[in-house]
Amino acid sequence: MSEKTKVGVLGATGSVGQKFIQMLENHPYFEVTEVAASERSQGKKYRDAVNWILTSPIPESVAALEVKKCEPSLDCRVVFSGLDASVAGEIETDFARAGYVVVSNSKNHRFDADVPLLIPEVNPDHLGLVKIQPYGKGAIVTNPNCSTIGLVIALKPLVDRFGLDAVNVVTMQAVSGAGYPGVATLDIYDNVVPFIGGEEAKVESEPLKILGTLLKDHIELLPLKISAQCNRVPVIDGHTETVQVSLKRKATKEEIIDAWRTFRSVPQELNLPFAPQPAIYYFDQENYPQPRKHRDLGRGMAVSVGRLRECTLFDWKFVVMSHNTARGAAGGAILCAELMKGKGML
Ligand code: NAP
Repeated sequence: MSEKTKVGVLGATGSVGQKFIQMLENHPYFEVTEVAASERSQGKKYRDAVNWILTSPIPESVAALEVKKCEPSLDCRVVFSGLDASVAGEIETDFARAGYVVVSNSKNHRFDADVPLLIPEVNPDHLGLVKIQPYGKGAIVTNPNCSTIGLVIALKPLVDRFGLDAVNVVTMQAVSGAGYPGVATLDIYDNVVPFIGGEEAKVESEPLKILGTLLKDHIELLPLKISAQCNRVPVIDGHTETVQVSLKRKATKEEIIDAWRTFRSVPQELNLPFAPQPAIYYFDQENYPQPRKHRDLGRGMAVSVGRLRECTLFDWKFVVMSHNTARGAAGGAILCAELMKGKGML
């Protein structure tokens, strides 16, 4: 790993794009050599084009870069995409065709049969799909929706040990998930908005692919019933989800907690830079997890779980909390690229 891989960020001026720039500063595997965005930003220095909303300063090495057009003539091997979904699909395909490895946060390619919908701790084997993509040295790998990621990391140890029949989830999602400027103050202050466009369909469908089985040329979906209700709440970062599950086999409370506390996977074994150790924190305190207290655990990459108790409708219920722009967006995508680097795919 002596030489750093050159990476570009598409949509570098957006909320997710900025988080990429922040999280990639001094990364041991990757060096940001290119930033690209819309016509509005092209030709400007990054520091002049971006409305930087994060609390740490813009990394010096990126501040002076010129913002380029999102065309596959960038000097890098990997592009991280935080592009608006209205343009992401086509631009990402163009880059893959031109031989770039694309790791995307956008929804456009998530359900393409030959594209992995990847959570490195959950389905690292799904990277096998890249071999059947028609892009030669190029590839497209996608990162799931931010609520899906926290939920599925918490479900994975249960699927492996006890099997899963049904899931009911209610989300309380942070405002940073809506980008910037996002939800108007007068809509969210002193309020809860019980609707996030397209979100419930994503949370009900994406886990089935992520937890599915890799076959020769596609993923066989996990047969699992999921019902989701998604709400926007006045929290800045960190999505909280209350979850009810029915298991295939009976489990005790101690067995379930042990499944979470001992969960380790390929990123932890490979000691990848962004792999949280542990991946899941289980809290015994009756009023944990909470977004303000726990969202930064494992540099925002760990998932916090608590309040496991028996459920009168399902078997068990509990609370999950994870950082939506770190684990749920930029950090999750960077971990996907670290896994590809670790497996010699870059
Ligand atoms: P955003 O703040 O609106 O940023 C969008 C980015 O796309 C900007 O850099 C913008 O550039 C660029 N862009 C827009 N139109 C373009 C065009 N025609 N050509 C080239 N670039 C263009 O959005 P976001 O919240 O960061 O979300 C980005 C993507 O990530 C979305 O697909 C979203 O669904 C997904 N996502 C977001 C989150 C989250 O927590 N926010 C989590 C997971 C996934 P300019 O600044 O130059 O206009």
